[in-house]
Amino acid sequence: MSAALDMEPEEFRQAGYRVIDWITDYLANPEQFPVLPSVTPGDFSALLPKLPPQDGEPIGRILDDFERLIPQASTHWNHPGFFAYFSISASGAGVLAEALTAAMNINAMLWRTGPAATELEEITLSWLAELTGLPPGLDGTINDTASSSTLYALAAARENAGLSVREHGLAGRGDVPRLRVYCSEEAHSSVDKAVLTLGLGMDGVRRIATDDAFRMDADALAVAIAEDRAAGIRPIAVVATVGTTSTTSIDPVRAIASLCEQEGIWLHVDAAYGGSAAVVPEMRDVLDGCQYADSIVLNPHKWLFVPIDCSVLYTRRPDILRRAFSLVPEYLVTPDGARNLMDYGVSLGRRFRALKLWFVLRYFGGIGLADRIREHLRLAQLFAVWIQEDGRFELVAPVPFSTVVFRLKPPGVTDEAALESLNSALLQGINASGDVFLSHTKVKGRYALRLAIGNVRTTEQHVAAALQIARHVADRLEYSASAAH
Ligand code: PLP
Repeated sequence: MSAALDMEPEEFRQAGYRVIDWITDYLANPEQFPVLPSVTPGDFSALLPKLPPQDGEPIGRILDDFERLIPQASTHWNHPGFFAYFSISASGAGVLAEALTAAMNINAMLWRTGPAATELEEITLSWLAELTGLPPGLDGTINDTASSSTLYALAAARENAGLSVREHGLAGRGDVPRLRVYCSEEAHSSVDKAVLTLGLGMDGVRRIATDDAFRMDADALAVAIAEDRAAGIRPIAVVATVGTTSTTSIDPVRAIASLCEQEGIWLHVDAAYGGSAAVVPEMRDVLDGCQYADSIVLNPHKWLFVPIDCSVLYTRRPDILRRAFSLVPEYLVTPDGARNLMDYGVSLGRRFRALKLWFVLRYFGGIGLADRIREHLRLAQLFAVWIQEDGRFELVAPVPFSTVVFRLKPPGVTDEAALESLNSALLQGINASGDVFLSHTKVKGRYALRLAIGNVRTTEQHVAAALQIARHVADRLEYSASAAH
């Protein structure tokens, strides 16, 4: 064993300066790396030894290898040309908070194992509710991802149904009807995963048709609920979405909320992406109706410049959420009479995630956050206009937020299979540039490209570059198509 049990302070300080220098240069110029690395599966592993080290190595050598190997085989989510999926940001304040979180290594499972972490979570989430216009008094907890938040919300909905699932489970019971959760056909797959995990099976989800703007049809929802009740199926929850993954459509939450109220069904709102837009005062309406929801998920790690992971679950019914999850063995009993974060989900251990949210909210302030999101909204509108002006492209969906869904649609080409292969080639060509990264989706069967703006370092110049690249690739594709004829 080496003389010191852990790194000596001076060794740490020197390595720490090197790490900070690297991070500073990286964040100052993430474009020094292509947004997508040129690697194929297995390339990276082939560079590493198969056996673990037996003798410790100097930190300098480990950092050398980090610099030499990791960035080259990484997809750069910090690259301002990252427009795939939903882009995210490691903002400076968030990165510094993450370093401090790691250093303190607090596990806030109980109030007494993290008093500041527990209480900062409560304070920052009340600030976030205020900034997004959500009603005061909502109970909030931070989870890793929206998938976990939605799972917990639907577990609370199942608990709320009064079927004593906590006591007796579901399997082998003749006294429990089939249970159902409703969401639109555009809802995220995390709803299905939650329902699967909760033991309701794939049959436990009923997807409701959407209108021509991809919003859940509230009348069709009412019909589905009535049909299910008539068939002896018990509706337990509806998941409405504010900002669906494919097209960022916004379900009519207010109408859905009033139906849920009449029917006594839990309403969960997935605002993982779209909820952040409500920090812009003139966008507050996107959360209209959410004041009636039983639970809402909003991900500051998506579009609020907080490094992954930070997903907020708000609920008006914390008692039910606790009833679904609280379980206190003797060794965790405390006399503090305080809120313990372990009672709100599956994990016992809780990272100190509120610290990065606190840093980011304070560093930008409500006005700074609103300015940045407003700019992303403007850039998306601009890109949508450019795409339409080009004449060869078409928008495939409205643009309520910062995501543009579009495709190449040469005049006269109507066959969907031909359009899919053309647009898939377009996407491949665009992403091969190394300067931008877009992803795709299918919208009512139509293959389309998505340009999602959300990185704090993205400017008009990056969006213009995406357009230029798309045009060049389209020219090339048209040329090769005409050369083939
Ligand atoms: N909900 C929506 C609307 C999403 O777009 C996503 C992911 O992009 C999720 C939920 C799942 O998010 P997470 O990765 O935090 O689980």
